[in-house]
Amino acid sequence: AIVVDGLRKSYGSNEVLTGIGLEVAAGEVVCLIGPSGSGKSTLLRCVNLLEEPSGGVVTVGGVDVTDPDVDLDGLRRRIGMVFQHFNLFPHLSVLENCTIAQRKVLKRPQAEAVEVARRNLDLVGLADKADALPAQLSGGQQQRVAIARALSMDPQLMLFDEPTSALDPETVGDVLAVMRSLAEAGMTMLVVTHEMGFAREVADRVVFMDAGVVVEQGPAAQVIGSPRNERTKLFLQRVL
Ligand code: ATP
Ligand code: MG
Repeated sequence: AIVVDGLRKSYGSNEVLTGIGLEVAAGEVVCLIGPSGSGKSTLLRCVNLLEEPSGGVVTVGGVDVTDPDVDLDGLRRRIGMVFQHFNLFPHLSVLENCTIAQRKVLKRPQAEAVEVARRNLDLVGLADKADALPAQLSGGQQQRVAIARALSMDPQLMLFDEPTSALDPETVGDVLAVMRSLAEAGMTMLVVTHEMGFAREVADRVVFMDAGVVVEQGPAAQVIGSPRNERTKLFLQRVL
């Protein structure tokens, strides 16, 4: 589970998160929506300490990530992250992309790492691409490899930052289908997305952010279907 309370983040004099409160319970899927520059990526990056919070509390699985004594490697190992740009190693095969961190970080034996990777490639529908190089795959296939790679580390929760925004429209659906099946399997997920259909159908809760604060949150059908806040309404009018 993730608990964020009073989270602030400044870059110099620019305060981009001004007191964020947010919870993602174990097994819950929360979609984070909001205009460009509202702080969605910064919030995600504070959860796994890619950015250091300027104030407030962030706990992941009960561990305070801002504790100076925190086991940063242990923390990051528990959190799978999937970005807009998948950053696969171009010179490694799909299978090797999914085994390298298991071997180097988790010190898993090769045979076990391969078994785990194959299971996750099967899960994302790419068992037959294990020996391909990333450049031989479509964007959507590469993103599914990135998901399989993250899952191969056995994360307790997954963060997604606009995983489909850089994809050709015809490959978006396959990636969303994989995310949906992960959600149905009970994965804890915090997902930044502009895919309102996905948010409406898959999210347990939708959180609307604007200008560094949570403006509105609630069940997907309520926030997307009948938003209460004017800013939420305006945003949805523009994206729907
Ligand atoms: P988008 O939908 O475009 O991805 P976002 O909601 O993810 O937007 P952030 O990327 O979190 O927004 O950025 C929030 C604000 O913080 C922006 O004003 C941005 O310019 C600023 N910002 C983000 N990262 C940095 C950084 N490393 N240094 C300085 N300012 C930053
Ligand atoms: Mg962003």
